[in-house]
Amino acid sequence: MAIQVLKPKFHVEECLDAVRECLEKGWTGMGFKTVEFEEEWKKYTGHKYAYYLSSNTVGLHLAVKILKMDNGWQDGDEIISSPITFVSTNLAIEYENMKPVFADVDEYLCIDPADIEKKITDRTRAVIFVGYGGRVGQLDKVIEICKKHNLKLILDAAHMSGTRVNGVFPGTWDGVDVTVYSYQAVKNLPTGDSGMICWADEKYADLTRMLAWCGINKDTYARSNKGTYAWKYDVDYVGYKYNGNAIMASIALTQLKYLDEENARRREIAAMYNEGFKNNPKIKIVPATYADECSYHLYELIVPDREDLLNKLSEAGINCGVHYRDNTEYSVFSFGEGQAPKAREISGHLITMPLHMWLTDEDVKMIIEKVNEYV
Ligand SMILES: *Cc1c(COP(=O)(O)O)cnc(C)c1O
Repeated sequence: MAIQVLKPKFHVEECLDAVRECLEKGWTGMGFKTVEFEEEWKKYTGHKYAYYLSSNTVGLHLAVKILKMDNGWQDGDEIISSPITFVSTNLAIEYENMKPVFADVDEYLCIDPADIEKKITDRTRAVIFVGYGGRVGQLDKVIEICKKHNLKLILDAAHMSGTRVNGVFPGTWDGVDVTVYSYQAVKNLPTGDSGMICWADEKYADLTRMLAWCGINKDTYARSNKGTYAWKYDVDYVGYKYNGNAIMASIALTQLKYLDEENARRREIAAMYNEGFKNNPKIKIVPATYADECSYHLYELIVPDREDLLNKLSEAGINCGVHYRDNTEYSVFSFGEGQAPKAREISGHLITMPLHMWLTDEDVKMIIEKVNEYV
């Protein structure tokens, strides 16, 4: 069977036991396991607030929406973002009629602080930093820039479940306003689809509870726990139906137990790749700051002829991927064309190597051999 680029490993029996608990209890919606998972996630990461959502995409939307609402941002105001990311990062800006401005990327494939500074105008309100492949890049410098220019900082941590720096989750660093994780089907902590939004400020965490559940100002769990079913809730905002559910949370709670050991295995594989490719002059390895604590959601190489290599590897039964195309190549973001030339150049040469729990050391050695043969 062909080797896949990303392949989740579910702890099936344990997940089923947790899901069974929901079915037997008759509680599959919001509350119960979603609350348990929020508590476990706060313990695991050190975030003060956590709200479980149906995806990271909706979390990024809420992040932009709430900051816009509360800070009086206007339509057309700018948010500096990354051109090489999953489109959700930049769609979130568009949902709120704001304008993505693309900063160029550094060697870590994260946005470059030096270019962020160049892109700041009097309409810039925030920066969205993507921890590419789990990397922290130069987030510390980006925080300094945001503080200096009074910009909000949104961390798209879709790849960063488990990434630490000296034992600390970078999303909890002072200066990060909000961190949004993804538990999409192939992320490091896979469910079906879900995500978590973690604010630094309690006020925004409270707003999130309402906006993520149709603008309603109390959730079912809180109400039914009081004994009386308070059906007389108010609707304070034109909110959304963005909350996560207990079935997904059951899977998340189970998978979380294994996240650190699985990330350790990811780092082992990444180290094998680094070693295997370091002497090939045609291959450029994408480094990571704090690599020894990186979640390594993705392992990318920069190669001279990406399409050729993809095809040859596919014929050899090794399916690699591309993460990500420069977003300004897509129609909806084409207005940004030319803003980030380095990202455009790199994204044409990026290839994602297989990296997941199903790979044996022998698989990895074989992949390294084939890549070195074909490049
Ligand atoms: C997967 C991903 C998202 C979206 O996550 P969902 O949970 O699928 O909505 C956002 N940003 C990045 C960088 C991603 O990889």
